[in-house]
Amino acid sequence: MRWLPALVLPLVVLAGCNGSGDEGEPSPPGIRVSPEQPRDRAPAVTLRPDEPLAGKTVVLDPGHQLGNGRFPSEINRLVDAGGLMKPCNTTGTATDAGYPEATFVWEVAEVLQRKLERWGAEVVLTRDSNSAELWGPCVDERGRRAAEGDLLVSIHGDGNLSPGARGFHVIASPEVEGSQALAEEMRDGLVAEGLETSTYLGSEGLDSRTDLGTLNLAVRPAVMVELGNMRDPQDAALMTSPEGRQRYAAGLLRGIRRHLR
Ligand SMILES: [Zn+2]
Repeated sequence: MRWLPALVLPLVVLAGCNGSGDEGEPSPPGIRVSPEQPRDRAPAVTLRPDEPLAGKTVVLDPGHQLGNGRFPSEINRLVDAGGLMKPCNTTGTATDAGYPEATFVWEVAEVLQRKLERWGAEVVLTRDSNSAELWGPCVDERGRRAAEGDLLVSIHGDGNLSPGARGFHVIASPEVEGSQALAEEMRDGLVAEGLETSTYLGSEGLDSRTDLGTLNLAVRPAVMVELGNMRDPQDAALMTSPEGRQRYAAGLLRGIRRHLR
């Protein structure tokens, strides 16, 4: 069949785009030729989107609601954080110029949600808006929502005043099965995107904590990712720019794909 090479060629190009098969942006909807098709007959061609994460559900937890600061009594109420009592939530931090952590993590989560959905995954968000009129949910509810997916990624930005404190770190609870492996995969994904590990916390971009309700109450692998230090000018420049948020989301996508492959 004379048209056959023209059909096969794009497949080769697509495979090349994906490299190891788990990195980078998704290819456009692919053409699949069933491998068992006899060579002396026209191949059965199925046109369908290439969705390697179909059937997977990712819970994204954009930490802190924008309005938390207006609801101090609600936010300071103590909740069960998994063996200890902790405040329901906090206000989160901000850049020196006033760009709030709540808005940063919401915007990264939105970009990441779109990327994950393009890969065929379902996405569950622990809050459905970024509103100065709203507060919560509390850390216990955030953690329990891990049950709705294959994994939970809690997205945060840190606020540290030490000079030169910058870079990301990924926190896991050693008591939740699979979380430490997920943390390493997320760290590797962010590094593969060219993002730098923390200069001030954890070790090689990883930290282990047992005092975080969001992680303690997860029944699936769960991590908290502090994507950068919002008080550091270098990190703040990246976090404030749409291009920077695309990079953070791309790094998180790489980590999630490493875990789900
Ligand atoms: Zn936070």
